Amino acid sequence: MTAQIIDGKALAEELRQGFKARVEALTAKGHKPGLVVILVGADPASEVYVRNKVNGCLTIGMHSEKITYEATVDQDTVLNKIAELNADPNIHGILVQLPLPKHFDEEKVLEAIAAEKDVDGFHAENVGALAQGNPRFIPCTPYGVMKMFEKGNVDLTGKEAVVIGRSNIVGKPMALLLINAGATVTVCNSRTKDLLSHTRRADILVAAVGKPKFVTADMVKPGAVVIDVGINRLPDGKLCGDVDYAGCLEVAGQITPVPGGVGPMTITMLLANTIEAAERKAGL
Ligand code: NAP
Repeated sequence: MTAQIIDGKALAEELRQGFKARVEALTAKGHKPGLVVILVGADPASEVYVRNKVNGCLTIGMHSEKITYEATVDQDTVLNKIAELNADPNIHGILVQLPLPKHFDEEKVLEAIAAEKDVDGFHAENVGALAQGNPRFIPCTPYGVMKMFEKGNVDLTGKEAVVIGRSNIVGKPMALLLINAGATVTVCNSRTKDLLSHTRRADILVAAVGKPKFVTADMVKPGAVVIDVGINRLPDGKLCGDVDYAGCLEVAGQITPVPGGVGPMTITMLLANTIEAAERKAGL
């Protein structure tokens, strides 16, 4: 059996085309959606992500700007900028690119963003709303995965879902979304005993580990939906997911590729959250 491929690139493009009309409608009413991305330091991977986020906004007619600081900047300078942006009526979304340099208190910085502008969905208020099953802003990567389930007509109700990884950015919110959708959810981590026994019974398997080709074909239940969140850079410079794609393709029922899978969906859902923030502000 060869798995059906869930094409994140195509779905991202389809969704972005659909966003244009909403952006136009908001702009016509004087509420052009605006996103500010704050970057501290010059990590090359972060610079690429930030550039893609800003360009993603601009290509669908939104306002977007990047604010950069040297890695040595003091935390108060960044907190003051966030306070200024919280009060700016033209800015609907504020995002601080992670990771921050070691001298920063990441939690304090994320909590400083007004919850109604927290388009990454990392503010405690938004995490709490998601946990209660009434999400306001859903973290972009797992939100993108949910859209991929929708596109692949994957019914989650009553399914065994296994998430490998428990980070605040991917694993935990992914698990909450699956719980909210009626799946029976297991979240694995680096201390999980007998990982294989969990993954092999998964109808839905989400890998968010950060280790290239970690999920191999023998770990996958035949016909399972395999979602690869991982983005790993190999020594030859190529991108590789957390799933051994070639091997799992022959076992899974549906699978996402890397690149061209979850990655393009993440930025797309950031745009979705920012547009939604602007619509809420405009009372639409
Ligand atoms: P992270 O914070 O490093 O978390 C990795 C998780 O994997 C941790 O919970 C860790 O467990 C778990 N883990 C590590 N080794 C394991 C093992 N042997 N067995 C079971 N679990 C294990 O990473 P992240 O931020 O969630 O990101 C995960 C991957 O997704 C990375 O490749 C990242 O680049 C990628 N990513 C992609 C997107 C996208 O847009 N596609 C967005 C964000 C992240 P412990 O908690 O016990 O350490």
